[in-house]
Amino acid sequence: MLVSAKSMLEKAKAGKYAVGQFNINNLEWTKSILLTAQELNSPVILGVSEGAGKYMCGYKTVVGMVKGMIEELGITVPVALHLDHGSYEGAMKCIEAGFSSVMFDGSHYPIDENVAKTTELVRICNEKGLSLEAEVGAIGGEEDGVIGNGECADPNECKMIADLGVTMLAAGIGNIHGKYPANWPGLSFETLAAVSEKVGDMPLVLHGGTGIPADMIKKAISLGVSKINVNTECQLAFAAATREYVEAGKDLQGKGFDPRKLLAPGCEAIKATVKEKMELFGSVGKA
Ligand SMILES: [Zn+2]
Repeated sequence: MLVSAKSMLEKAKAGKYAVGQFNINNLEWTKSILLTAQELNSPVILGVSEGAGKYMCGYKTVVGMVKGMIEELGITVPVALHLDHGSYEGAMKCIEAGFSSVMFDGSHYPIDENVAKTTELVRICNEKGLSLEAEVGAIGGEEDGVIGNGECADPNECKMIADLGVTMLAAGIGNIHGKYPANWPGLSFETLAAVSEKVGDMPLVLHGGTGIPADMIKKAISLGVSKINVNTECQLAFAAATREYVEAGKDLQGKGFDPRKLLAPGCEAIKATVKEKMELFGSVGKA
C-alpha cells in the first residue's frame, strides 16, 4: 500500500535519521529500489519527476506499476510515491492519478505567488491525506541550464512557507542537482541551522544527494534533514554496470542479449547504491 510520507518523516526527524527518496525511471529501477527497501526493512520514497512521468507513459501508468509491484513482490515497508519538482498542474494530475505525496516547486515564483499556490495545495493534500513538499531558495544544477553553486534559502521565507502547513520543506543550502563541480564550497550548515531553528519540527529535505561527502550528509541529518533525494547516483551506477557488461562482450555470448540478462548488472548496481545510501542515512530497520 502506498502511504503519505508524513509519518515516516516525522519518525525520521525525531529519530535523527533520514529517509531516502530514490527517483525511478522504469520498471527495473522501481523493482530494484522496492526490493532493497524490503530487504533492509527501510521506509522508502519513490521520486518521479515530470519528465520521468511522461517517459513512463503518464502518472496513472506509474501508479499502476508501483501498486502492482508492492502487491506482487510482497512489499510491506512504508512506500510513498512522490512527485519530484512538480509544477502546480503536475501536482494536481498526480493527486488525481493516486500518488501519495507531491512536491510543488514554487521556488522560481515570487514569494507571494509561491505562498498562494502552496496554500491551495495544502488544502487539497490535507483533504486527501497526502504529504506535500515545498521548496524555498532554488536548488542549483543542470536542471536550470546552468551549473551554479546553489542558492541559500532565506530562513524567514522558509518559516513563512512552513507555517502554511506543508509536510516537509526543501531549503537550498548550497546543494546542487547532478554532479558537484570540483570547486563546490560545500553545504552551508549556517543556513541549515538557521532554517532548522525557524521551522522547528518540520522535516527538511536535502536535494542533490549525489556526491555530497558522507560526513556532510551526517551533519545535515543532525541539523534536521530527514529526507534526502538521490537520483544521479543510481543513474551513474546503472550506466557503468551496463557499460561493463557490453564492453566485456557478454551480450554476444549465448542469450546475453536477452533484456532480462542485459539489464541485470545495472539493477544490481542500483540495489547496491540504494543499500549504501540507506545505511548512510540511518533508515535501515526503521520501517
Ligand atoms: Zn531536487
